[in-house]
Amino acid sequence: MPLETDYLVMGAGAIGMAFVDTLLTDTDAQIVIVDRHHRPGGHWNEAYPFVRLHQPAAQYGVNSRELCHGTKDTVGLNAGMYGLSSGAELIAYFDQLMQQRFLPSGRVRYLPMSQLVGSDEVESLVTGARQRVTARRKVVDCTHSRMQVPATTPPRYAVAQGVHCVPVNELARLARPQAGYLIVGAGKTGMDACIFLLAQGVDPDHIRWVMPRDSWVLDRANLQSGDGFFMNTWGNLTRQLETLVAAESVPDLMLRLEAAGEWMRIDPSVLPSAFHGAILSAAELAQLRRIHGVVRLGRVKSIDASEVHLEQGSIPLPHGTLVVDCSAAGIPSVAAVPVWAGQRITPQWLRSFGTVFSAALIAHVEATFDDDDQKNAMCTPIVPPSHAADWLRMLAVSMKNQQLWSKHPQLQQWLAEARLNSMFHSAARIHPDEGEKIALMQRYRQNIKPAAAKLSELIATLR
Ligand SMILES: Cc1cc2nc3c(=O)[nH]c(=O)nc-3n(C[C@H](O)[C@H](O)[C@H](O)COP(=O)(O)OP(=O)(O)OC[C@H]3O[C@@H](n4cnc5c(N)ncnc54)[C@H](O)[C@@H]3O)c2cc1C
Repeated sequence: MPLETDYLVMGAGAIGMAFVDTLLTDTDAQIVIVDRHHRPGGHWNEAYPFVRLHQPAAQYGVNSRELCHGTKDTVGLNAGMYGLSSGAELIAYFDQLMQQRFLPSGRVRYLPMSQLVGSDEVESLVTGARQRVTARRKVVDCTHSRMQVPATTPPRYAVAQGVHCVPVNELARLARPQAGYLIVGAGKTGMDACIFLLAQGVDPDHIRWVMPRDSWVLDRANLQSGDGFFMNTWGNLTRQLETLVAAESVPDLMLRLEAAGEWMRIDPSVLPSAFHGAILSAAELAQLRRIHGVVRLGRVKSIDASEVHLEQGSIPLPHGTLVVDCSAAGIPSVAAVPVWAGQRITPQWLRSFGTVFSAALIAHVEATFDDDDQKNAMCTPIVPPSHAADWLRMLAVSMKNQQLWSKHPQLQQWLAEARLNSMFHSAARIHPDEGEKIALMQRYRQNIKPAAAKLSELIATLR
């Protein structure tokens, strides 16, 4: 007997959970969720023990439930800013959401340790039993991000026997000092591995860091929510627009973004070519700058007992060095597909780095509008960035989507109330005697149109 439901959701990671949460709020639909893991949270189940969000928790999770309850850190490298949930907190949050909201609703059937095969067959990973599931409305593919983390993505370089090479997760299980550390990979995971070792008191000269490409990174102080951070949040958005308007070329734009305090780089003498949206505090950046053994010879190709071979040369591997693999892609730049296509919905980013915000908004659009062409027209998906210039394309799509949403009162209402959009709510709370804030918002609004025009001009030069 096939199982019948309205929506069949593949994936109970952050995207699947955020999508279902809003669908539960906005509809009376029945939902089946299928996931390979034994509990919700997706890749957070495999994250390294010291992982934390790199953006404030206030902007993460699902729409209906707070994460971190608006607390600020008072100690550590994020002091003064909103808390960054740990991996353990995220797993507990998603588990409680399933146990306390989704399942008690009586509308969600959760099939963990199972995978969707084709579009309507669910296979148990434990027993191999297969079951047909018929979706009356849509199949929702919440696996499009193709997340890659070191614990489940083996290194793409050959490692000779006897070389001690571990995924980043193992750093938290070290039981004896190592002669030295070679961190392979310079994305957010590599940065976290370096900061973790430095926090344990490892001498920076005992760390070598393979950095195939330098990245631009974002300053977390600019990405805070709430009235207390109004000038940071809106100042950041305004400076972005003003910088764009003033820019004479794409390379000029990047340097201007840095000069305006929008972008940061680890080594001021090297011009980054990558941009994955990694977020650091100024204090974390200062820690990373303590490491001088940065290896810029491209990607690692192989490691043997005494040498590391990279695309552009080799370096010695001193005896007793622990190689820490941080080379998984994280969020790869997977090509975008239409969000609504036939019987399928594929949640993707609609706003720069708006992973969970976008999933919730897509569920709201699904619940609010009937015509799939209309829905697609207001929800152009973004390809996650890899190269520095991708920032422009991402911003262009974000601005276009935002502008289209502003034409729909139902969406405006949702945006004004959505917890996951709270970073932008402070603009609606300005008091008439707050002249500085009013002036900033005027500057922001004045620059939207010229910035959009300049964005198109600069993007045209990339082709
Ligand atoms: C270290 C790190 C820090 C990060 N910090 C932030 C942050 O601060 N803010 C932010 O917005 N983002 C952050 N991210 C990005 C992160 O990718 C997203 O926030 C989000 O967790 C991605 O969720 P997802 O649902 O797309 O993917 P996943 O977590 O990978 O979930 C997909 C799920 O689909 C399941 N699945 C796959 N195929 C099938 C199938 N055939 N059948 C059934 N189930 C299937 C998998 O089992 C998995 O559970 C971070 C990422 C990393 C690695």
